[in-house]
Amino acid sequence: QQMMEIRKRYCGPTTMVNTYYKKPVSIRQGFMQWLWDLNGKRYLDFFSGVATVSVGHCHPRVNAAAKKQMERLWHTTNIYLHSPLHEYCEKLAALFPEPLKSVYLTNSGSEANDLAMLLARLYTGNFDIITFRGAYHGGSPHSVGLTRVGSYRFPVATGLGCHQTMCPDVYSGIWGGSHCRDCVVQADRKCSCTSGSCHAKDMYLEQLKDTLNTSTSKSVAGFFAEPIQGVGGVVQYPKGYLKEAFKMIRERGGVCIADEVQSGFGRTGKDIWAFKAHDVIPDIVTMAKGIANGFPMGAVITSRDIADTLTRALHFNTFGGNPIGCAAGSAVIDALLEDKLAQNSTEVGTYLLIGLAKLQSKFEIIGDVRGKGLLIGVEMVKDKITRKPLPNVEMDQIFEDCKDMGLLLGKGGVHGQTFRMKPPLCVTKADADFALAVFELALKRHEK
Ligand code: PMP
Repeated sequence: QQMMEIRKRYCGPTTMVNTYYKKPVSIRQGFMQWLWDLNGKRYLDFFSGVATVSVGHCHPRVNAAAKKQMERLWHTTNIYLHSPLHEYCEKLAALFPEPLKSVYLTNSGSEANDLAMLLARLYTGNFDIITFRGAYHGGSPHSVGLTRVGSYRFPVATGLGCHQTMCPDVYSGIWGGSHCRDCVVQADRKCSCTSGSCHAKDMYLEQLKDTLNTSTSKSVAGFFAEPIQGVGGVVQYPKGYLKEAFKMIRERGGVCIADEVQSGFGRTGKDIWAFKAHDVIPDIVTMAKGIANGFPMGAVITSRDIADTLTRALHFNTFGGNPIGCAAGSAVIDALLEDKLAQNSTEVGTYLLIGLAKLQSKFEIIGDVRGKGLLIGVEMVKDKITRKPLPNVEMDQIFEDCKDMGLLLGKGGVHGQTFRMKPPLCVTKADADFALAVFELALKRHEK
């Protein structure tokens, strides 16, 4: 009560706490996949501070690395050489294929996308940028122009030259339902479509061509895609779509940007990067969130050619490459690879998807279960035939009920109709069983 009073009086009004829970949760402490509130109640965290605590709250390995660095040096800026930054850039670049080897460090995902936009425009000499409906690429004045979900866009001039194309959503998009369901790039489901190309993919590609022909000067600077859409509701695209879309963009002189802010760092499993499942190599990849387990940091990686365009003007940010962030980031990569947390993401994620698919067959209001690794979405509908979104009040009731039973979920989707499950990558199958049991109980209560 007291905290809400202070919040109302001294914090800006558009914070999520006002809209997320009817009765806000006050968190005091976290350890690995668990959070504790002020009363000592424990929650299984299935949202990780919006998919950000990648390897676990206060992960001992990351904490130790950050603490060690904290006692040695906090800040220098990029004016000076310092080893945490160089070690980090080398380690990060090793996770990418050629030619993605040049790193810029930023403070957030929005700033990484701002920089990617700048690079795309400088490198190509073109101006127009294409993004998907339902995309979330940030909230800064530039990146918000790329964002096409929720009510983030204020009525002021922003996003000049940014154009929206249809998101190839095979469940509730305009060509949803007309596809071969197995053609979606899935964790363990193989495409059984003999033609190798399903109807939805072709329709959405035609639509992209139309966007390019009608809303741009036939040239394009860049195309941003989250390899799996996060805030938009964990939307996966038809197999082969992204590869052909990249080809189309490159033919028009543009560069292709994979926004891995949410899907990167093992969130979708052992591949580490979600773009790999699409059989593409982007020209630029942006990252943040899970990069340093919650320490504010972001990054852009690209080819030397594209990175070099910034030498025409100075690019500077005060905090980018902060030593503590870099030390934490290095420890995250170690935990992913050496402690096999990216592998765990694949194993527990697949287990969870199977459990959720069972619930889907039991409950009429679960329309779709999708995702990869521990980036999972459950689309809630009025019924399976119409696929109309479950009304927000009903979503909220289930959401709140899960919280009361000790499970924190996320919400997403263009209509707020998708539950998002994105726990820290250290969760176990036993945690998945607990989450499935709580979710089932909340759905049963909703049925009554
Ligand atoms: N891109 C994606 C895919 C995101 O999910 C987000 C954050 N939700 C951003 C960019 C923006 O990141 P930040 O909030 O760190 O600016």
